[in-house]
Amino acid sequence: MKPKSIKSDELSKIFSDLKKGEESSIGSYLIKGVRLQISKFNLSGAERVQLLYKRRRTQGLCIVCGKKVTKKNASTGQLYRLCEDHRNKIDKGTK
Ligand SMILES: [Zn+2]
Repeated sequence: MKPKSIKSDELSKIFSDLKKGEESSIGSYLIKGVRLQISKFNLSGAERVQLLYKRRRTQGLCIVCGKKVTKKNASTGQLYRLCEDHRNKIDKGTK
C-alpha cells in the first residue's frame, strides 16, 4: 500500500483516533520522510477485506478495484461505492 503523505497536525488527529480505538486511524502514512504504519494485529482474511472495503468507502474509492469514484447517487447525494465499471456489473438493477 502506498503511504499517504501527512502533515504534523494530521498526525495528532491520527493519534487521537488511535487512542480512542477508532479504525479510521489505521493506514500507512508518510511524515517527514518516515513511514508510519498503523495496522490491526492478527487480522483474519475476512476482517482484512472488510477493513479494506471500509477504508475505500470512506475515501470515495470503488470498494472492488480502488478506483476513484466520481459519480454521486442523485437520491442520496453520496458518492457511489463502486466505480462506473463495477457499478454496471454489480449494482445493475439495484438502487
Ligand atoms: Zn471498480
